[in-house]
Amino acid sequence: MPTMPMPEKGISRDDLMARLHALKAHDADWRRGRMFGLIYQAGGDLEEVIDEVYRLFLFENGLSPMAFPSLLQMENEFVAMAAGLMGGGPEAAGCMTAGGTESIFMAIKAAREWARSERPDIVDPEMVVPVTVHPAWNKAAHYLGLKIVLTPVDEDFRADVEAMREAVTDRTIIVGGTAVTYPHGMIDPIDRIGELARERNLWLHVDACLGGYILAFLRRLGLDLPPFDFAVPGVKSLSVDIHKYGFIPKGASTVLYRNETLRRHQFFVYTDWPGGVYATPSLSGARPGGPIAAAWSVFHFLGEEGFLKLARTARDATVRLMDGIRAIPELYVLGRPPATVFAFGSDQVNIFEVGARMKERGWHLDFQHRPASLHMTVSPAHGAVVEPFLEDIREAVRAVSGVKPENLSQEAAMYGMMGGLPDRTMARDFALSFLTDLYRLK
Ligand SMILES: *Cc1c(COP(=O)(O)O)cnc(C)c1O
Repeated sequence: MPTMPMPEKGISRDDLMARLHALKAHDADWRRGRMFGLIYQAGGDLEEVIDEVYRLFLFENGLSPMAFPSLLQMENEFVAMAAGLMGGGPEAAGCMTAGGTESIFMAIKAAREWARSERPDIVDPEMVVPVTVHPAWNKAAHYLGLKIVLTPVDEDFRADVEAMREAVTDRTIIVGGTAVTYPHGMIDPIDRIGELARERNLWLHVDACLGGYILAFLRRLGLDLPPFDFAVPGVKSLSVDIHKYGFIPKGASTVLYRNETLRRHQFFVYTDWPGGVYATPSLSGARPGGPIAAAWSVFHFLGEEGFLKLARTARDATVRLMDGIRAIPELYVLGRPPATVFAFGSDQVNIFEVGARMKERGWHLDFQHRPASLHMTVSPAHGAVVEPFLEDIREAVRAVSGVKPENLSQEAAMYGMMGGLPDRTMARDFALSFLTDLYRLK
């Protein structure tokens, strides 16, 4: 890679901002509600409020709660509110982290330390989780030296608990489930996984990164949802992202434990550093003040009433979108998604080509394989675009109906190829080369 010289002299603030605006002009235009995933938009004046909150805490560092007691207080209050929402009792405890990946890492690390003290005979620990868990679990297993055993899901894309039971061995220390799963928006049968965990003395972590902060409110609205949180006796920890259905900018998640004894396994302490005793709750050292202040603020600014309203809006939009999609004969919705995330596919048209045509019309949908489908994460702000979306998808399906395989767009062809490669080491090499090329100055 060619190195790039740093500018010798600075430029004016006006020039700088002009350069940044020019760069940003090519970014996805999420404000029009045409993006599903990546950004969770509440709408209203929340964005302006969070902007002000961030500026107030922009440079403060959560690494030192002594220097910045406001951050400590906001984190403790936020975590206590979160634990209450997730069915935790007065013993519940938790921390804020930088995102779902860090929350899952922390819970799995805590579980590993717990197993080292509870079950010291196990030297090569394993975890048993359904294939639909987020790749952050695979990443955590890879980094933390655990074997991950993946089990199938049922026809409704929920964990097959009998298959999990069969996969548990004397080396298993962790079982997991998700509410709601990223690929299909489903809730795993957490109560039954909890029974398994209790029978075999396993740590059950529930990944509610995506669903937690919307399910809590959908449940209060009276939706019939299966239990997924501390109400299930076997659940020891939960991860819940604030930067998803908490509607604040990236860099904010929660990891919760049934009690402080379990949380102790998460902490890291080093007492012999020449710089002094070093003790941190989570992976990060320095921690930005903005996400902590934003998390605290969004709960106070919207309150339960505001969150209930947003949850209702997002769920209503989801139901209208799913109904509209089901009404198109060529399309079907995968499973019966109970919240605000779902995927749809087709046995009759190339669904990736439909996605590519939607992109031409300005709609950003994630492409998924197994089965091939398009993915939607519905935000309250999408309530306003349901009709234009459905009009465009009807047209896209019509346009794609007659397309021959050789006339597929490049994007559709590439996704079809990647999903279909029988040799996964080829897909892996392809992805590694893609990353190598992406992160290189051109
Ligand atoms: C988003 C997500 C994660 C990972 O969270 P990041 O914030 O991207 O690190 C984990 N699990 C589920 C179910 C998710 O949707």
